[in-house]
Formats: sequence, C-alpha cells, structure tokens
Amino acid sequence: MPDFVPGLRPPADAGAALCYYFSPGGDLLVYPGDPPRPADLAPPEPPQGEAVTAGLYLGQLGNQACFAHWGPETAPDGTEYASLRGLMLRMQEPLGAIAGRARQLLEWDRDYRFCGRCGTPMRDKDDERARICPACQHLGYPRLNPAIIVGITHHGRLLLCRNARHRGGFFSLVAGFVEVGESLEQAVRREAAEEVGLSLERVGYVGSQPWPFPSGLMIGFTAEAASAAIRVDGDEIVEAGWYGRDDHPPIPPHGSISRTIIDAVLASLPG
Ligand SMILES: [Zn+2]
Repeated sequence: MPDFVPGLRPPADAGAALCYYFSPGGDLLVYPGDPPRPADLAPPEPPQGEAVTAGLYLGQLGNQACFAHWGPETAPDGTEYASLRGLMLRMQEPLGAIAGRARQLLEWDRDYRFCGRCGTPMRDKDDERARICPACQHLGYPRLNPAIIVGITHHGRLLLCRNARHRGGFFSLVAGFVEVGESLEQAVRREAAEEVGLSLERVGYVGSQPWPFPSGLMIGFTAEAASAAIRVDGDEIVEAGWYGRDDHPPIPPHGSISRTIIDAVLASLPG
C-alpha cells in the first residue's frame, strides 16, 4: 500500500474517497474479516452550498482521498462497529494508523467549536490544522496528551507489573501521563518512583507510538533500576516482579509499544 500523506484540503485530482465512519462512542465501522477493513460506504450528501466533499479531509493514500465522518447510528448490513483499540492492532497498515488519526481529528473537530477564551464560534485556519477565533484570534490546535512507558531492568531481569485497570490479566510496563512542567525523563523517574518505588539510572529513549484513546502519544524508554526492592502503590499497580526471558506472565498483544519494548528487552536478557 502507498504511504499516507496528510493534508488539509483534497487536491483537484484527489480520486476516489476512502471514508472512515465512527459511532458517537468512537467505534469504527468496518467490514468484518481478517484483516478487517474500514467500511467504505458512499459519503453522505453534503449540505447544499457546501464544498463537494463532506466530512473531515485527512490526506491522501495514493490516489484515494481519506475522510473521517460520524457514521450512522446502526451499522448497515454487512458492516459492524468495533473498538478501534482492537482494530488498530489487526488492520493492515497504514489503514490502522489513518483510523487513529481520523478519530482524533474528528473528536477535536466536534469538541473545539467555540473559542475557549471568548466563546465565539471558531473557524478553520487556512494554512494549518488549527482553529482560529475571528473575534480574539485565539488559536486552537488538536490536543495531544503525551504519556511515557518504560522497560525497567535490574541484573538481567525485566520489571513487569499488573495494572488494576488491565482486565485481561496481563502484565505490562510502568507508564503514565506527563505532567505540566515536566520533562519526559522526569516523568519516567516520577512514575517509576510512584508506581513501584524504584529509583532509575540510564534512562534512554527507544521510540514512540500514537495512541488515540482518546488523544495520546506514547513515548517509550528503557532504564535500569538502582535496586531490586519493589514497592507497588497498590492503587494503579497491584502486582509487580522481576522476570526473565522464559519465565514471565502473560504480556500485552503485538502491535502496542509496550509489547515492542517488552519483546526487545526480553530478547536482550541472558537466557
Ligand atoms: Zn475568542
């Protein structure tokens, strides 16, 4: 498949439309199957006098113009609404990544219609993905909430912990949102101290992943713990331990950055 190229307005020769439809709760309309595909219905009729294309333009996938729409209440025959979180791990790329982008921009489009400063209806900015208030010039950009995730090792073992929110029962890594005024490295050290009582050395960046639930960006790190003594907070983290390559509890499914880091760290540990 061609690479996705983001854009603000479809080019004159945009070609066929590839539409992503979402339920009010943010589920994606798909043709079920393996892999599932976005259910590409005919786009709704644009209101009279509007531009020829309804929906929110995302960019081009080759000669296909990609749009995000709020979908019908019930899924039409042959389609179904499914959780984007599960779908993104199963859809062919870049269709899954475009779906994540589509949902975040659609929610931003819905939730930021009025100026937060003076209450005037905002309008789209011409030259970038932003809204501007015609009365006070206040600018609004799509919001991202950065969160860190860190693979912590000590003496050839990886720290895995069970979060109270993980219903699947699997074990994962220390993670949490970055606070205002904090660097990413400070967030890594704070979360490790808060969640498992560890002080860290050699904090290093490994990679990142958009996480549109609802508007996250996961930023991945590895680090070494100064000691093995774990103290779980009992609130977010209910269980944690040091594990080796062949003796670890269930871990998250493929496709998430947590799994990528866990696989890479486990592979690097002594067998
Ligand atoms: Zn304003």
